[in-house]
Amino acid sequence: MAVRKILYASDPKLRQKAKKVKVFGPQLKKLANDMIETMHEANGVGLAGPQIGVMQRIFVAEIPEEEDNPLSGKPWVMINPEIVKRTVEMEEGQEGCLSIPGWVGLVNRHYGVEIKARTVSGKPIKMKVTGFLARVFQHEYDHLDGILFVDHISDPEKLWRLDAEEEDDDDVYVFEEIESLTA
Ligand SMILES: [Zn+2]
Repeated sequence: MAVRKILYASDPKLRQKAKKVKVFGPQLKKLANDMIETMHEANGVGLAGPQIGVMQRIFVAEIPEEEDNPLSGKPWVMINPEIVKRTVEMEEGQEGCLSIPGWVGLVNRHYGVEIKARTVSGKPIKMKVTGFLARVFQHEYDHLDGILFVDHISDPEKLWRLDAEEEDDDDVYVFEEIESLTA
């Protein structure tokens, strides 16, 4: 296993659509393991192929263990995922991104989704997820289509730096910088 380099949001690869995975085999298993290791090392809850420059429809996700949630506390590898159902109910919640370090924002997402994918061995799976894991799945799924969480935020009040030491003006400036990435 190896930790891969995570691309910053300004990298054009993060704006491209990833292609379907066609070959399931040892290479894909190695990629999935590298992605899990990279996500753990960066203390993230998800990582998508394009974030390490791999333009394939694969993401990994793992949220901290939650009581009564058997889907939490373990890594998920989703290959060629498709969100097939979304709850009408939306929920606003905090998000960050390993490609936009130091920034968090409030993003409105579907409270629950049903997702179809293949496992790393090519087995079809279907999962119903809600809450934080559903949020992470939607965030990572977006990466496969070149969408970043900041694209969902139009109100600058809803995006801020983790270290709140910065001057307000500076924050606005950097927000504009991020905005220009989303054009
Ligand atoms: Zn992200």
